Amino acid sequence: MTTQTIRNSTAVWRAADTRHHLHPFTDFQGLAAEGGSRIITKAEGVWLEDSEGARILDGMSGLWCVNVGYGRERLAKAAYEQMLALPYYNTFFKTATPPSIELSEKLAALTPEGLSRVFYASSGSEANDTIARMVRRYWQLAGQPARRNIISRHNGYHGSTMAAASLGGMQPMHELDGLPLPGFHHVRQPYWFGEGGDMSPADFGIAAAKAIEDKILELGPETVAAFIGEPIQGAGGVIIPPESYWPEVQRICKAHDILLIADEVICGFGRTGHWFGSNLYDIKPDMMTLAKGITSGYLPLSAVMVGDRVADLLWSEGGEFAHGFTYSGHPVACAVALENIAIIEEEKLVERVHDDTGPYLQQQLASLAEHPLVGEVRGVGFIGAIELVTDKASRGRFNPKGRAGTLCRDHCVKIGVVSRAVGDTMVVAPPLTLTREEADELVKRLRLALDGAAADLNIK
Ligand SMILES: *Cc1c(COP(=O)(O)O)cnc(C)c1O
Repeated sequence: MTTQTIRNSTAVWRAADTRHHLHPFTDFQGLAAEGGSRIITKAEGVWLEDSEGARILDGMSGLWCVNVGYGRERLAKAAYEQMLALPYYNTFFKTATPPSIELSEKLAALTPEGLSRVFYASSGSEANDTIARMVRRYWQLAGQPARRNIISRHNGYHGSTMAAASLGGMQPMHELDGLPLPGFHHVRQPYWFGEGGDMSPADFGIAAAKAIEDKILELGPETVAAFIGEPIQGAGGVIIPPESYWPEVQRICKAHDILLIADEVICGFGRTGHWFGSNLYDIKPDMMTLAKGITSGYLPLSAVMVGDRVADLLWSEGGEFAHGFTYSGHPVACAVALENIAIIEEEKLVERVHDDTGPYLQQQLASLAEHPLVGEVRGVGFIGAIELVTDKASRGRFNPKGRAGTLCRDHCVKIGVVSRAVGDTMVVAPPLTLTREEADELVKRLRLALDGAAADLNIK
């Protein structure tokens, strides 16, 4: 008998969870006061099931990661077979394993030209820490050791280790323990709906990019190592930049000889209807962060794609690169990633999201713009955001911030759909396998949640 069947009691699990388990990004006492966690026990396709047997439509792919959907026997088999053949061996000390080699070759082929080498870790945070170290090492070797500053955006998300949280622009994370670390700087985000005021999106995109140049000039270009950004900010509330933004960012990085890094942890592996967000915006990054969708979350794995400019110098001049993780290139995680990529290719999930289900989902989501609580709906492929406002014309925001989002999210929980509230922005990022019928169901449930929140707020 499994542990689950012996102790199959929500109350018992909740009590033990409350007593012993500190959850990430959680008010521990607040969660306990609400009676504890919802216990998720199973999932299939796009549907989760909790310990009370309730079915929940997962509009968030877990944490933006279960791209191929739940219940994939092929991924379980790939892990099982690799565990029997070789459950673990490291990639330190001049050794490698077949899955780590094959995945490297595959990622080099899938990612944009010039990104032909891979450094592995187990999470997006570790990959971004690796990048922070690698770019500084690059500039040492390039004879410009003063280039140590890294620029990123307010409200960007790059992970939770100290360097990754410093790269990120999340104020509550910085306040937790006095981050950012020295050498990490932030500029405004390309969030037109929230911060664009009277500017056209195109002009605002240029202005937001210009903030990077202003920061470079303020710090001194000879001290700036790199700029990092998510092609579309995910955790910050699905901030889709104006079309003018990325071309201008690229021009600025080039003009000041600064490395450009695309954090593709959410955008990668088909989320936007392209393999990578860099394909969507025609970004030519020097490095790329991959995680989440690389294994569809079935096992922890991340990768830093290193462009030739950086890799060639580390290779020719660098000597030992004194950095790495016990689980860098873990053979089971790499085997699962390979099988996951094979599923995405065989089922043409990127093409489906690009040509068929993505446009359909966006069209259905757009119908929510008519709702009295909604100020804007935006999205591309299988990522989208719904802005909740007090007043459509003035884009009026709630006070306190997050009031409407929290209410709406609570209705989502009751209705049986997962959508995340980022302040007063509801975000969705369903598995890439979501069908048109399931998209209808998702939007139907979101509309019910909006109705519920509007009623609570007395907005008609
Ligand atoms: C989730 C995320 C990370 C951090 O990944 P972890 O695996 O949680 O460490 C980094 N960057 C982006 C864009 C993310 O969404």
